[in-house]
Amino acid sequence: MNEQQLSKRLEIVVSYVSNKARIADIGSDHAYLPCYAIQQGLAEFAIAGEVVEGPFQSATKQVRSLALTEQIAVRKGDGLAVIEPADAIDTIVIAGMGGALIRSILEAEPAKLDGVKRLVLQPNIAAHQLREWAEINQWKLVAESILREDNKIYEILVLEPSEAKVAYSDAERLLGPFLMREKSEVFHAKWEHELANWIEIRGKIDANSAKNAEKLAELDLKIKLIEEVLR
Ligand code: SAM
Repeated sequence: MNEQQLSKRLEIVVSYVSNKARIADIGSDHAYLPCYAIQQGLAEFAIAGEVVEGPFQSATKQVRSLALTEQIAVRKGDGLAVIEPADAIDTIVIAGMGGALIRSILEAEPAKLDGVKRLVLQPNIAAHQLREWAEINQWKLVAESILREDNKIYEILVLEPSEAKVAYSDAERLLGPFLMREKSEVFHAKWEHELANWIEIRGKIDANSAKNAEKLAELDLKIKLIEEVLR
Protein backbone atom coordinates (compact mmCIF):
# COMPACT_ATOMS: atom_id res chain seq x y z
CA MET A 1 0.00 0.00 0.00
CA ASN A 2 1.12 3.57 -0.70
CA GLU A 3 -0.44 6.92 -1.62
CA GLN A 4 -1.06 5.71 -5.18
CA GLN A 5 -2.30 2.22 -4.42
CA LEU A 6 -4.44 2.31 -1.30
CA SER A 7 -5.76 -0.81 0.41
CA LYS A 8 -9.27 -1.78 -0.72
CA ARG A 9 -10.47 -0.61 2.72
CA LEU A 10 -8.95 2.89 2.43
CA GLU A 11 -10.03 3.14 -1.21
CA ILE A 12 -13.66 2.76 -0.14
CA VAL A 13 -13.15 5.13 2.81
CA VAL A 14 -11.73 7.83 0.52
CA SER A 15 -14.48 7.30 -2.04
CA TYR A 16 -16.77 9.09 0.44
CA VAL A 17 -14.58 12.22 0.30
CA SER A 18 -15.62 14.58 -2.46
CA ASN A 19 -16.38 18.09 -3.64
CA LYS A 20 -12.85 19.39 -3.13
CA ALA A 21 -13.25 18.70 0.55
CA ARG A 22 -11.16 20.07 3.38
CA ILE A 23 -10.40 16.94 5.34
CA ALA A 24 -8.89 15.99 8.67
CA ASP A 25 -7.60 12.41 8.74
CA ILE A 26 -7.28 11.59 12.43
CA GLY A 27 -4.86 8.74 13.16
CA SER A 28 -3.34 9.15 9.71
CA ASP A 29 -0.28 6.91 10.23
CA HIS A 30 1.66 7.21 6.90
CA ALA A 31 -0.73 9.88 5.61
CA TYR A 32 -1.52 7.68 2.59
CA LEU A 33 -5.19 8.67 2.61
CA PRO A 34 -4.74 12.48 2.61
CA CYS A 35 -1.92 12.23 0.03
CA TYR A 36 -4.18 10.16 -2.25
CA ALA A 37 -7.15 12.48 -1.70
CA ILE A 38 -5.10 15.55 -2.64
CA GLN A 39 -3.41 13.89 -5.61
CA GLN A 40 -6.73 12.63 -6.97
CA GLY A 41 -8.32 16.07 -6.54
CA LEU A 42 -10.90 14.80 -4.03
CA ALA A 43 -9.67 17.22 -1.38
CA GLU A 44 -8.15 20.69 -1.65
CA PHE A 45 -6.66 20.74 1.86
CA ALA A 46 -5.93 18.08 4.46
CA ILE A 47 -4.70 17.69 7.99
CA ALA A 48 -2.92 14.44 8.80
CA GLY A 49 -3.33 14.12 12.57
CA GLU A 50 -1.26 11.70 14.66
CA VAL A 51 -0.78 11.32 18.38
CA VAL A 52 2.19 8.92 18.24
CA GLU A 53 5.69 10.15 17.33
CA GLY A 54 6.65 7.28 14.96
CA PRO A 55 3.59 7.53 12.67
CA PHE A 56 3.75 11.35 12.90
CA GLN A 57 7.33 11.20 11.54
CA SER A 58 6.25 8.76 8.80
CA ALA A 59 3.43 11.10 7.77
CA THR A 60 5.75 14.11 7.76
CA LYS A 61 8.28 12.26 5.60
CA GLN A 62 5.61 11.04 3.20
CA VAL A 63 4.06 14.48 2.69
CA ARG A 64 7.49 16.08 2.18
CA SER A 65 8.60 13.41 -0.28
CA LEU A 66 5.55 14.08 -2.43
CA ALA A 67 6.00 17.87 -2.13
CA LEU A 68 2.50 18.23 -0.70
CA THR A 69 3.38 20.42 2.29
CA GLU A 70 1.29 23.31 0.92
CA GLN A 71 -1.87 21.20 0.81
CA ILE A 72 -1.33 18.83 3.75
CA ALA A 73 -0.57 19.96 7.30
CA VAL A 74 0.88 17.11 9.35
CA ARG A 75 0.11 17.79 13.01
CA LYS A 76 0.91 15.93 16.18
CA GLY A 77 -1.91 15.82 18.70
CA ASP A 78 -4.66 13.84 20.32
CA GLY A 79 -7.77 13.31 18.18
CA LEU A 80 -9.59 16.43 17.05
CA ALA A 81 -7.18 18.73 18.94
CA VAL A 82 -5.18 19.12 15.70
CA ILE A 83 -8.09 20.95 14.02
CA GLU A 84 -8.20 24.79 14.18
CA PRO A 85 -11.26 26.88 13.22
CA ALA A 86 -9.24 28.59 10.45
CA ASP A 87 -8.75 25.19 8.75
CA ALA A 88 -12.48 25.22 7.82
CA ILE A 89 -12.51 21.42 7.84
CA ASP A 90 -15.72 20.02 6.35
CA THR A 91 -14.92 16.29 6.35
CA ILE A 92 -13.35 14.22 9.11
CA VAL A 93 -12.01 10.73 8.44
CA ILE A 94 -11.18 8.37 11.32
CA ALA A 95 -10.22 4.89 10.15
CA GLY A 96 -8.56 1.75 11.41
CA MET A 97 -9.36 2.00 15.13
CA GLY A 98 -11.94 0.39 17.39
CA GLY A 99 -15.42 1.90 17.54
CA ALA A 100 -15.03 2.82 21.21
CA LEU A 101 -11.79 4.73 20.54
CA ILE A 102 -13.31 6.59 17.57
CA ARG A 103 -16.29 7.47 19.74
CA SER A 104 -14.06 8.76 22.54
CA ILE A 105 -12.21 10.94 20.01
CA LEU A 106 -15.53 12.42 18.80
CA GLU A 107 -16.74 12.94 22.37
CA ALA A 108 -13.55 14.57 23.64
CA GLU A 109 -13.97 17.82 21.68
CA PRO A 110 -17.50 18.20 20.32
CA ALA A 111 -16.94 21.87 19.40
CA LYS A 112 -14.46 20.75 16.73
CA LEU A 113 -17.39 19.22 14.85
CA ASP A 114 -19.01 22.64 14.30
CA GLY A 115 -19.15 23.29 10.57
CA VAL A 116 -18.22 19.70 9.70
CA LYS A 117 -20.54 18.35 7.02
CA ARG A 118 -19.45 14.72 6.86
CA LEU A 119 -17.78 12.09 9.02
CA VAL A 120 -16.29 9.02 7.36
CA LEU A 121 -15.65 6.48 10.10
CA GLN A 122 -14.15 3.02 9.71
CA PRO A 123 -14.25 1.14 13.00
CA ASN A 124 -12.41 -2.19 13.04
CA ILE A 125 -14.85 -3.44 15.69
CA ALA A 126 -17.93 -2.23 17.60
CA ALA A 127 -19.55 -0.07 14.90
CA HIS A 128 -22.69 0.03 17.07
CA GLN A 129 -20.82 2.41 19.41
CA LEU A 130 -20.75 4.97 16.59
CA ARG A 131 -24.38 4.49 15.60
CA GLU A 132 -25.31 5.10 19.23
CA TRP A 133 -23.08 8.21 19.31
CA ALA A 134 -24.83 9.39 16.13
CA GLU A 135 -28.27 9.09 17.72
CA ILE A 136 -27.21 10.98 20.85
CA ASN A 137 -25.50 13.76 18.90
CA GLN A 138 -27.96 14.07 16.01
CA TRP A 139 -25.84 12.81 13.13
CA LYS A 140 -27.57 10.60 10.57
CA LEU A 141 -26.11 7.74 8.59
CA VAL A 142 -26.17 8.53 4.88
CA ALA A 143 -24.26 5.46 3.69
CA GLU A 144 -22.58 2.33 4.98
CA SER A 145 -20.20 -0.17 3.37
CA ILE A 146 -18.94 -3.56 4.39
CA LEU A 147 -15.96 -5.29 2.82
CA ARG A 148 -13.57 -8.17 3.30
CA GLU A 149 -9.83 -7.71 2.92
CA ASP A 150 -7.06 -10.10 4.00
CA ASN A 151 -9.69 -12.25 5.69
CA LYS A 152 -10.90 -9.39 7.88
CA ILE A 153 -14.27 -7.72 7.60
CA TYR A 154 -14.55 -3.94 7.89
CA GLU A 155 -17.50 -1.58 8.13
CA ILE A 156 -17.51 2.02 6.94
CA LEU A 157 -20.06 4.53 8.26
CA VAL A 158 -20.76 7.87 6.61
CA LEU A 159 -22.56 10.44 8.76
CA GLU A 160 -23.95 13.90 8.18
CA PRO A 161 -25.53 16.35 10.65
CA SER A 162 -29.27 15.94 11.01
CA GLU A 163 -31.92 18.60 11.59
CA ALA A 164 -34.29 15.98 12.96
CA LYS A 165 -33.90 13.62 15.88
CA VAL A 166 -32.05 10.43 14.91
CA ALA A 167 -33.25 7.08 16.22
CA TYR A 168 -32.33 3.58 15.11
CA SER A 169 -33.95 0.30 16.11
CA ASP A 170 -31.89 -2.17 18.16
CA ALA A 171 -31.23 -4.18 14.99
CA GLU A 172 -30.24 -1.10 12.98
CA ARG A 173 -27.87 0.06 15.73
CA LEU A 174 -26.16 -3.32 15.92
CA LEU A 175 -26.11 -4.33 12.25
CA GLY A 176 -26.37 -1.04 10.40
CA PRO A 177 -29.56 0.23 8.70
CA PHE A 178 -28.10 0.23 5.17
CA LEU A 179 -26.10 -2.97 5.62
CA MET A 180 -28.98 -5.00 7.01
CA ARG A 181 -31.17 -4.04 4.07
CA GLU A 182 -28.49 -4.70 1.48
CA LYS A 183 -27.59 -8.07 3.12
CA SER A 184 -24.45 -8.64 1.09
CA GLU A 185 -22.49 -11.88 1.15
CA VAL A 186 -19.87 -10.25 3.43
CA PHE A 187 -22.59 -9.04 5.80
CA HIS A 188 -23.97 -12.58 6.03
CA ALA A 189 -20.51 -14.01 6.65
CA LYS A 190 -19.82 -11.50 9.45
CA TRP A 191 -23.08 -12.03 11.30
CA GLU A 192 -23.23 -15.82 10.85
CA HIS A 193 -19.81 -15.89 12.50
CA GLU A 194 -20.87 -13.53 15.33
CA LEU A 195 -24.07 -15.50 15.83
CA ALA A 196 -22.23 -18.82 16.19
CA ASN A 197 -19.82 -17.17 18.61
CA TRP A 198 -22.54 -15.71 20.80
CA ILE A 199 -24.55 -18.94 20.81
CA GLU A 200 -21.42 -20.76 21.98
CA ILE A 201 -20.78 -18.18 24.72
CA ARG A 202 -24.40 -18.38 25.81
CA GLY A 203 -24.14 -22.17 26.15
CA LYS A 204 -21.26 -21.76 28.58
CA ILE A 205 -23.03 -19.29 30.91
CA ASP A 206 -24.69 -20.76 33.98
CA ALA A 207 -28.37 -19.87 33.46
CA ASN A 208 -29.22 -20.84 37.05
CA SER A 209 -27.07 -18.12 38.57
CA ALA A 210 -28.96 -14.86 39.22
CA LYS A 211 -25.83 -12.78 38.65
CA ASN A 212 -25.78 -13.88 34.99
CA ALA A 213 -29.35 -12.80 34.28
CA GLU A 214 -28.46 -9.42 32.76
CA LYS A 215 -25.66 -10.85 30.62
CA LEU A 216 -27.94 -13.63 29.36
CA ALA A 217 -30.75 -11.22 28.52
CA GLU A 218 -28.30 -9.05 26.56
CA LEU A 219 -26.94 -12.06 24.65
CA ASP A 220 -30.44 -13.40 23.96
CA LEU A 221 -31.47 -10.04 22.51
CA LYS A 222 -28.43 -9.89 20.21
CA ILE A 223 -28.98 -13.49 19.08
CA LYS A 224 -32.65 -12.80 18.37
CA LEU A 225 -31.88 -9.61 16.42
CA ILE A 226 -29.30 -11.31 14.25
CA GLU A 227 -31.44 -14.39 13.64
CA GLU A 228 -34.39 -12.22 12.59
CA VAL A 229 -32.30 -10.31 10.09
CA LEU A 230 -30.39 -13.29 8.66
CA ARG A 231 -33.26 -15.76 8.34
N1 SAM B 1 -5.97 5.60 9.53
C1 SAM B 1 -4.98 4.66 9.05
C2 SAM B 1 -5.65 3.49 8.37
O1 SAM B 1 -6.87 3.36 8.50
O2 SAM B 1 -4.95 2.70 7.74
C3 SAM B 1 -4.08 4.18 10.19
C4 SAM B 1 -4.76 3.30 11.17
S1 SAM B 1 -3.68 2.85 12.48
C5 SAM B 1 -4.16 1.26 12.83
C6 SAM B 1 -4.31 3.83 13.80
C7 SAM B 1 -3.52 5.11 13.96
O3 SAM B 1 -4.25 5.97 14.82
C8 SAM B 1 -2.16 4.88 14.60
O4 SAM B 1 -1.16 5.46 13.79
C9 SAM B 1 -2.28 5.57 15.97
O5 SAM B 1 -1.06 6.16 16.37
C10 SAM B 1 -3.34 6.63 15.69
N2 SAM B 1 -4.11 7.09 16.85
C11 SAM B 1 -4.64 6.33 17.84
N3 SAM B 1 -5.29 7.09 18.72
C12 SAM B 1 -5.20 8.37 18.28
C13 SAM B 1 -5.66 9.63 18.75
N4 SAM B 1 -6.34 9.73 19.88
N5 SAM B 1 -5.36 10.73 18.03
C14 SAM B 1 -4.65 10.65 16.89
N6 SAM B 1 -4.18 9.48 16.39
C15 SAM B 1 -4.45 8.37 17.07
